[in-house]
Amino acid sequence: MARVSLAAPVSAVAGGKTAKALRDGLGIETVDDLLRHYPRRYIDPGELTDLDSLQVGEHVTVLAEVVSASNRRMQQRKGTVTEVVVSDGRGRISLVFFNQPWRVEREFRVGRRGLFAGTVSAYGGTRQLAHPRHVMIPDAGLHLVDESGDADRDREAEAAFSDLLIPIYPATAGLPSWRIQQTVRLVLDSLADVEDPLPPALRMEKGLLGLDDALRGIHRPPDRDAIEAARRRLRFEEAFDLQVVLAQRRHERLAQAATPRPRSAEGLLAEFDSRTPYALTSAQERVGAEISSDLSGTHPMQRLLQGDVGSGKTLVALRAMLQVVDAGAQAALLAPTEVLAQQHLRTIRGLLGPLAESGLLGSSDMGTRVAYVSGSQSARQRREELAAIASGEAGIVVGTHALLEDTVAFADLGLVVVDEQHRFGVEQRAALAGRGPADTRPHVLVMTATPIPRTVAMTVFGDLDVSVIDEYPPGRGRIATHVVAPREHPAHLVRAWDRVREEVDAGRRVFVVCPRIGDDSAAVSSDEIEADPESSADESPLSSVVDVTRSLADRWLSGLRVGMLHGRMPAEDKDEAMRRFTLSSDDPAALDVLVSTTVIEVGVDVPEASMMVILDAERFGISQLHQLRGRIARGGGDGLCLLVTAAEPGSPARERLAAVAATTDGFALARVDLEARREGDILGTAQSGKRSSLRLLEVIRDEALVEEARQAAQAIVADDPTLTRHAALRERVRMLAADDRSEFLEKG
Ligand code: ADP
Ligand code: MG
Repeated sequence: MARVSLAAPVSAVAGGKTAKALRDGLGIETVDDLLRHYPRRYIDPGELTDLDSLQVGEHVTVLAEVVSASNRRMQQRKGTVTEVVVSDGRGRISLVFFNQPWRVEREFRVGRRGLFAGTVSAYGGTRQLAHPRHVMIPDAGLHLVDESGDADRDREAEAAFSDLLIPIYPATAGLPSWRIQQTVRLVLDSLADVEDPLPPALRMEKGLLGLDDALRGIHRPPDRDAIEAARRRLRFEEAFDLQVVLAQRRHERLAQAATPRPRSAEGLLAEFDSRTPYALTSAQERVGAEISSDLSGTHPMQRLLQGDVGSGKTLVALRAMLQVVDAGAQAALLAPTEVLAQQHLRTIRGLLGPLAESGLLGSSDMGTRVAYVSGSQSARQRREELAAIASGEAGIVVGTHALLEDTVAFADLGLVVVDEQHRFGVEQRAALAGRGPADTRPHVLVMTATPIPRTVAMTVFGDLDVSVIDEYPPGRGRIATHVVAPREHPAHLVRAWDRVREEVDAGRRVFVVCPRIGDDSAAVSSDEIEADPESSADESPLSSVVDVTRSLADRWLSGLRVGMLHGRMPAEDKDEAMRRFTLSSDDPAALDVLVSTTVIEVGVDVPEASMMVILDAERFGISQLHQLRGRIARGGGDGLCLLVTAAEPGSPARERLAAVAATTDGFALARVDLEARREGDILGTAQSGKRSSLRLLEVIRDEALVEEARQAAQAIVADDPTLTRHAALRERVRMLAADDRSEFLEKG
C-alpha cells in the first residue's frame, strides 16, 4: 500500500463519505489533522461505562450490555418502536429505534455488549438515547453478519473491539467514535516515516517519545502507561511550538528599529516630578525605570504593564509619555471606551495642570497640548484636534478607537499606550504601531488591571516584556466585601440601603451596579455584561439601571440625589453624569448615588466613593467583580462592597461570590477565576474552536511545562533564529503560524 504523509489529505486513505464527515463535522482535512484529533478517553472492553454519570444533552459514547429488548406497535402512528434497555451492571438507560423491529433478534440479544453513541435525552423520567449509532461486540458463537448486508459495519465492529483499550474520540452525530477509530487505524497502518519537529537533543534531554511513537501511543495504546507517555510528549510539543512562534516574534521585533527617546534631565518630566505632591511607590519607581530604559533603546518597546486596580498605572504611563514628549515626539493613549477616554483626559489634564496648557496665556512655557479624539466629537472639534496632532503641537493625544483611523496623522508618534489590553486586539495595537515615522516603529506600552497568572502571560503575551506593579500607593483604604442574600435574609437588603444613606450623610458617594440597562431588555451590549451561563435559567428578572434608579429615587433612597450611567446614553449625558458624581457634595448639581452598568468597571476614579452595591452579583465574573469594587476606597478611607444575590447557598455562583468576599488579592482571584473556566475562554475564542492548536495543554495546570518549553524554545531561537538547522520544526511552526490556529496569539 502506498505510504501517506502527514500533509496528505484524509481522502488519500479514507472513503469519500468519511472524509467529508471528518471535514464538515470536525474540520479535519489532512492526515496530520486527523492524528492530532486525540481520544478524549479510553474504554477497557471489559469495563462498562458508568451510566449514572451521563448528563442530559451530552453527546456520549458508552459501552453497555443489553438487559432487555422488545418491539411494540405505536399507538398514534403506523409502525413499531423498539426499546432496548442497556446496563452497566447498576444504572440503566434505554435505546429507542423506530421501525427496525428486526434489530431485536439480530443484534440485541440479552447479554450482548456494544458501543452506543448519541445524545442523551430524558423521556418520561428515564434517560434515553434515541436512534443511537451502535456497534456490537462480535461474539464468538454467532458470527456477526449485519442483516443490512453491510460488510463495512462488520469491519467497523471488528476494528472497534480489537484494540486493547478502545479510544473514545470527540465525535459528531454523523460520525461516531468508532468510525474515527477505524480511519485512524487505516492511516497509522499506511503512515510514511514522520519527521519529528522536536530536535533530537531536546527530546533526549526531556526523555520524550518520538512523534511517530507518540501518535501511535495516543491512538492505539497497549496500556494506560503508554497513553501517559504519549500525552507527555504531545503536550510538551504544543507548549514548545507556541513558544517557538513567540520567541521568533520577539526576535523579529528586536530586529526592527525604533527612534530612541531617552530621558532628559530637564523638561516636562522633570518639571512634573518636581510638582507632584506625592512620592512614587517603589513599584512605580522600578517599573518606571524599566520603561524609561526601553524608551531609550533603538528597538521598539513592547511591554505589558500589569497592576491591580488602583496600583497607580496611570501615573507610570503619564511619566513615560512625558519622557517621549521631552524627546520631541508624541505619545498616544488609547482607551477602550468613551467614558474611560474622557476620564483619562481629565486625569491627565488634572495631573499636568499648567503643563497641559501650552501656548495659552499664563501657561508654563514648556507645556504641551493634550489633544482628544473620539467618534462622538463634532466635525469642527475633530478638525482642530487633528490639525494639532499633525503639526506636532499636541504632544499627548488621548482617544478611543477613533485614534486608529487613517485620518489621524501624527507628526512623530513615539509611544503608544494602550489601556486595558483585553479589550483590544493586537491587530489594533499593530495598526497604531504602524503609524511611526518611516522604517521605525513607535514604542508600545500595554496596561492591564486584569492580573494574569505568569503562565498565561507567557502563553498569550509571550512576545511582550512584562512589568508588574505589586504594591498600592499609600492611603488606599481596605475594602470589606459581604454577600447579601435577600431571599434568605430579607432585612439585609433594607439594611444595605440604610448603609448607603449613612455613607451619603457622611459626605461620601455610592455606586450601585446592575447587570442590565433596562427599558429595552434585549439590547444590552455585550461588552457591558458578562452573563453567567449557569444562572441564566434563573426565572427572576434582572435588575436594570433604569428600574433600579427609579425605585431607589422614589422609595429606598428618597431624598438622595440618584443618577444613572450606562452605555446607551449619549456621550454628553454620560460625561455629565460622571461629572456630577465627582462634584463636591455641597454643590447643588452633585449626585450622591450613581446607578450604572459595568461601564464603571475600569479606570473611573472618584475619591469620595466609599461604597458599592452590586445587584445580581452572580451575573458577573470574579475578575469583573474585583475590578468593580476597585472603584471605591480610592480617597483614603475604607470601603464597603455588597454583593447582592439570589444564588442558592452552595451553588457554584455563590462560591464565586464567597471567594470575592474572602480576599482582595487580585492575583489569587484571577487564579480561582481561570481554574473555573474552560481553557478556550482564557486564550480567546479561536482556541475554543474545533481547530485549536492546544489540545492537551492546559496552561494553568501545566505551568511548569510551559516554563520548560519556553526556555527550550528561546535557546533554540537564540541560536538559530530562522530555524535553518531545524527543518522539520521550521515547517511545523510555519504551518501553525500560517494557520488560523495561531490566531489566539493576536487576540489577547
Ligand atoms: P490604576 O490605573 O492602576 O487603577 P491609578 O493610576 O488610577 O491606578 O491610581 C489610583 C489612585 O492612586 C489615583 O487617585 C492616583 O492619583 C493615586 N496615586 C497613584 N500613584 C500614587 C502615589 N505614588 N502616591 C499616592 N497616590 C498615588
Ligand atoms: Mg487606571
